[in-house]
Amino acid sequence: MTVIPLKKLKPGDTIGILGGGQLGRMLAMAAARLGLRCQVFSPDPDSPAFDVVQHATCAEYADVEALELFANDCDVITYEFENVPSATAMILDARRPVLPAQAILTTTQDRLIEKDFITKLGIGTAAYADVSSVSELRTAVETIGLPAVIKTRRFGYDGKGQAIIRAGDDLSQVWEDLATKSAILEAFVPFEREISVVAARGADGQVECFDVTQNEHRDHILKFSYAPADVSDELAATARGIAEKIAGALDYVGVLAVELFVVASPEGTILLVNEIAPRVHNSGHWTLDGASVSQFEQHIRAIAGWPLAKPVRHGQVTMTNLIGDDILTYENWMTVPGATVHLYGKGTPKPGRKMGHVTEVTRPGGK
Ligand code: AMP
Repeated sequence: MTVIPLKKLKPGDTIGILGGGQLGRMLAMAAARLGLRCQVFSPDPDSPAFDVVQHATCAEYADVEALELFANDCDVITYEFENVPSATAMILDARRPVLPAQAILTTTQDRLIEKDFITKLGIGTAAYADVSSVSELRTAVETIGLPAVIKTRRFGYDGKGQAIIRAGDDLSQVWEDLATKSAILEAFVPFEREISVVAARGADGQVECFDVTQNEHRDHILKFSYAPADVSDELAATARGIAEKIAGALDYVGVLAVELFVVASPEGTILLVNEIAPRVHNSGHWTLDGASVSQFEQHIRAIAGWPLAKPVRHGQVTMTNLIGDDILTYENWMTVPGATVHLYGKGTPKPGRKMGHVTEVTRPGGK
């Protein structure tokens, strides 16, 4: 195991956060509770994370001078989204520790590289093929079969940059609509449920996983998370083991999420990894109120070189995302027993926009 030489922060030190969305905001709030300061870098003047920090840099990710000044102000730098441009990460990396490390972005920004990496670790994924032309798409469909899912290799999120292909679909049209030169075709997985593991890894190699979470999507966007997931203890342990193996192989420092499909097979129930998110994750939001430590605090502890907490869940927890106009119901949630409301301070509710979430600890002391 490689031990990354990491500067151990002390209270009062400054963490730089690339990205100003709700994840950056909640990271900064967790850091503040531990006596650490944060400086947020985002090109969007309306960034929700700007509201909770004293120092913000509003500049483009390609603005070298702004990046250098930002780095000078920070002791360590992290990010709240995985699509940090590599040039940006390199500029920062030359000046301050960037955690999780830049090489991890290279693996996780590209679905093909990520799937190859997972496969090499001996961990299952959906069958997949590299596709860079319509003729390669036809060959891949013959090998993998239909239905299948085509995804752009880069920059896909919340169902964007992907489409299900069914028997009879016009493959030329599918390829044209995807408007990319590099994609992967994945077998459609008839999953029983979707789960995720949110895990923290320290520079010393210690890993602490939160309890496995079950996730439900609406229109490709996470709507509900339930902790613990409705899976056997054995399957939950296997899922945690997968996350731990991935984190170790990446020499990861910080919090990451591994999304998995639970699939019935002739050999019994199996797990296939869908995706790795090298950051705090929406399916870990329940930890803010449903556990003794949140995913945000664990991330801050890891990148500060501080001891990780051993998370204890407070009961059975449900997290409901407030998406788009759902936000208009926030007052109704405020009087629900056991509910905690989180509003991200975003202006206009647009369809599909994550505006806030609610955590409910429904059965304190439950399994
Ligand atoms: P992704 O952007 O890869 O996280 O996919 C978003 C969602 O699409 C997943 O959470 C699944 O619900 C669904 N999905 C993605 N890939 C597949 C697949 N190969 N088979 C079935 N459903 C999928």
